[in-house]
Amino acid sequence: MSANAQSLLEVRDLSVDFRVSARDWRARPVRLRAVDGVSFDLRRRETLALVGESGCGKTTIGRALLRLYEPSEGQVVFDGVDLATLSPADLRAFRRRAQMIFQDPYASLNPRMKVEEIVAEPLRAHGIGSRAERRARVKELLALVGLPEQAAQRFPHAFSGGQRQRIGIARALALDPDLVVADEPVSALDVSIQAQIVNLLKDVQDELGLTILFIAHDLAVVRQIAARVAVMYLGKIVELGSRDEIFESPLHPYTQSLLSAVPVPDPAVERARERIVLTGDVPSPIEPPSGCRFHTRCPFAMEQCRTVEPVLRATGSGRLVACHLVHPPAGDA
Ligand code: SF4
Repeated sequence: MSANAQSLLEVRDLSVDFRVSARDWRARPVRLRAVDGVSFDLRRRETLALVGESGCGKTTIGRALLRLYEPSEGQVVFDGVDLATLSPADLRAFRRRAQMIFQDPYASLNPRMKVEEIVAEPLRAHGIGSRAERRARVKELLALVGLPEQAAQRFPHAFSGGQRQRIGIARALALDPDLVVADEPVSALDVSIQAQIVNLLKDVQDELGLTILFIAHDLAVVRQIAARVAVMYLGKIVELGSRDEIFESPLHPYTQSLLSAVPVPDPAVERARERIVLTGDVPSPIEPPSGCRFHTRCPFAMEQCRTVEPVLRATGSGRLVACHLVHPPAGDA
């Protein structure tokens, strides 16, 4: 059993490297560290949101947790067992318990398969149930995600984006998993549909007791569903706290900038509030900036930010932040 029985998943110092072509085609491939020494826990039945701009490593983390990418360093412990120690048979059993919902409901459903075959595919792949039992299970799953029974006999092109994502969710739930990694599950959908899909995930989580890692680039989307939020920048977590802490008093300047891009419903508040607009692009993870990786874009950057890397450390309330403004480097306190 895990040292921490509350956690379904424990991620310790996880790093994931890729080899990519160098700019000069004659040179050797270079290492790109997409995820750099990330640690967090996922508590049973909670939703943790992993938020950051595209290219910050959040999808790579999701895939590494499901062992779709091999970690270069660090540990992923699921229900007390280090995934690196699993035999092929145990890994197959683990895959029954951990599923993924993909970003693009258009690309992730095979257009030549009927919905019934798509949703039953994981059951078939794991040799579960007779044909009739699988058909009954598909009916149950379609009802769970709010689709009519007749949807089973139709092809994906007959459905809207939101309905297709419901089909993707039904497929992810077919094996009754404990953990779901939802990788930007609403970012390809119209804003008017996004809330419906987030609410559906929330409902099925309550009903089935799921643990969800919800990956998003948009903080506004996670407010409805996440209990805790981890903010990532260039392969590292820069702030991790409860939803209320992150939304009401963000401490890291990057979190503040992401939040200032979230519209406020009250027009008077919206007009009065200060915005932090980031300039420049996210630097390349092949050559991340020295010191604090955010210093090239941070409006509060100080001299030491260029040379001393801030460590992710707990504040008095237990929130984790990596910033010299919150934890001054030794000698500055
Ligand atoms: Fe900005 Fe410095 Fe804090 Fe980094 S450590 S976020 S550069 S103030």
